[in-house]
Amino acid sequence: MVEENLRLVKERIERKCAEVKRNPSEIKLIAVSKNFGIEAINHVFNQGNVDFGENKAQELDSKYSQLGNKISWHFIGNLQRNKVRFVVNSADYIHSVDSLMLAVEINKRAASLNKIQKVLLEIKTSFEDSKAGLNEYSEIKDLADYCKEFENISLIGLMTIAPFTDDVNLIKKSFSHLRKLRERLNADNLNIKELSMGMTSDFEIAIEEGATMLRIGSAIFGERDYSKSWKEIV
Ligand SMILES: *Cc1c(COP(=O)(O)O)cnc(C)c1O
Repeated sequence: MVEENLRLVKERIERKCAEVKRNPSEIKLIAVSKNFGIEAINHVFNQGNVDFGENKAQELDSKYSQLGNKISWHFIGNLQRNKVRFVVNSADYIHSVDSLMLAVEINKRAASLNKIQKVLLEIKTSFEDSKAGLNEYSEIKDLADYCKEFENISLIGLMTIAPFTDDVNLIKKSFSHLRKLRERLNADNLNIKELSMGMTSDFEIAIEEGATMLRIGSAIFGERDYSKSWKEIV
């Protein structure tokens, strides 16, 4: 079942890439496995060529200790400072850096592990109050400059979550805003490559707007069952 879902998702990515004349090999697929157990993750992993994403520090920690570093893990959730150590220990990428305080802590933990932590800045590109992330250019630029200074952080990209809406134009605007922001930062001498944008409901739009990392959960694993906590699943 998950194997077939993954195949269909890859097919949709390839079809969209062909349509907008992009090379699928420049897009990293992140299977978002939150709320799914080790067995489902292994089924997807065995199909090859896919990274995994988690949004809770302890859930990631638990899965990491069972599956280890055969998997390239992405942390995509809201990150509290006191959970940074779990995440730096297990994640190759942290997509949700949105404050200097957090960056300082990540840099410190990464230094203690002798690791260069790859990070993305989380940007708020919609006007929904519920969404996390940075939104003022000066704030974003300042944090990007600090990240460049930190020896144990490598700033590689920007991440956003589109507004929850059926209005395709609003979603497109949110993704194109992220792309333009990368261009503006790069014109200001930052060297940022990755755009982490696009989920189950909007990843084709994200590909059109230049996404290089797609975070796809339910189209691969099925609907999440929030009646169980991850502790009962993992
Ligand atoms: C859960 C989650 C996703 C994946 O969501 P789906 O709609 O299931 O594809 C992507 N990004 C973030 C930040 C998430 O928390």
